[in-house]
Amino acid sequence: MTTLAAPGFGLRCAACGTKVSIDTALSWRCPNAQAMDRHHVLHIDAPIAPLRAVEHPNPFASFRSYLAWDAFAAAHGLDDAARVALIEELDAKVALVAGVGFRTTPYGRADELSDALGFTSLVVCG
Ligand SMILES: [Zn+2]
Repeated sequence: MTTLAAPGFGLRCAACGTKVSIDTALSWRCPNAQAMDRHHVLHIDAPIAPLRAVEHPNPFASFRSYLAWDAFAAAHGLDDAARVALIEELDAKVALVAGVGFRTTPYGRADELSDALGFTSLVVCG
């Protein structure tokens, strides 16, 4: 499966609006930034809504289509499988050092906690 970065995914300066192509290497700051003017910060210029994750235990993989590095890698020819493999390889190295890799925090209703806090009944107003 090959998934390329979304069309129009790029970077835009918060101060002057300069657009920087996502395939630009080392695009850490706006090309118009000066040593005494640090307001030229690049932001991701791509829609984030609706935010949808793909199924993967690692949040860097599940939300990769919203990350600049993923768009950069896609722009330079890495297909989706290669990008996911890179995430998994780096995650394994983090796990070797930290004991655990990156994982999406599970959330959901915890009945025992809800009971203890008195949140057992659903109240619908309207
Ligand atoms: Zn700028």
